[in-house]
Amino acid sequence: CGIIGYTGAGRDEELSEILLNGLSSLEYRGYDSAGVAIANSTVSVYKSEGELSELERKLPPNTLEGFAGIGHTRWSTHGPPSDTNAHPHTGCDRRVAVVHNGIIENYEELRKELEANDHEFESETDTEVVPHLIEEAITQGSTPETAFRQAVHRLEGSYAVSAVVSGHDAVFATRNQSPLVLGIGDDGYFLASDVPAFLEYTDDVVYLEDGQYVSITRSGVEITDEQGTLVDMPVETVEWDA
Ligand code: GLU
Repeated sequence: CGIIGYTGAGRDEELSEILLNGLSSLEYRGYDSAGVAIANSTVSVYKSEGELSELERKLPPNTLEGFAGIGHTRWSTHGPPSDTNAHPHTGCDRRVAVVHNGIIENYEELRKELEANDHEFESETDTEVVPHLIEEAITQGSTPETAFRQAVHRLEGSYAVSAVVSGHDAVFATRNQSPLVLGIGDDGYFLASDVPAFLEYTDDVVYLEDGQYVSITRSGVEITDEQGTLVDMPVETVEWDA
């Protein structure tokens, strides 16, 4: 139900704090479980049914360092609330982690196809097909960014979806009939379902449109349309009272 993503320069040590603060600002949307994934040379996933405090209890005592991270608060639609059904979801080799808001209508058909290709599933969610599709595309030689796009092209339904891949400082995201905003900070970039998730760090926002893809890295942000053509989107400054 709520998504946060972050990557930036010089904020590695704050990554888990940024993700948890973001999720806590999205609590008003309602949720039954929560989780985060941190990408560095591997992808580490921590997730739990219940409140954010349950998730915090599962995190290692030291702040998590990494290139890039995503977080999620889940409002279950497919599969009951549980630790396993909580997002982020990973593929078989755990190179990819994905969070998703919304519903993937054709997940059963995709899951059958992937299972026939030796992909093993852990959860009952519609979401879990996405990391497996990305992993499959990477295995066939696609770059992470292209793999993300190829996976999303297979999806029918409503989604805001975001992914990290081990060894890459990028967070990839796109939307279709589900909200997604980009925050532009002084030394990093944010992706979220809603502005409050990052308002304490920046008030410069891009409201993404259906069918647009965004990739944020430490060195910049790229917004493209369905065909992969770069698009220039206006940056708006949010007015707010502290
Ligand atoms: N359909 C997904 C699930 O049940 C995502 C739900 C949400 O938007 O949080 O896991």
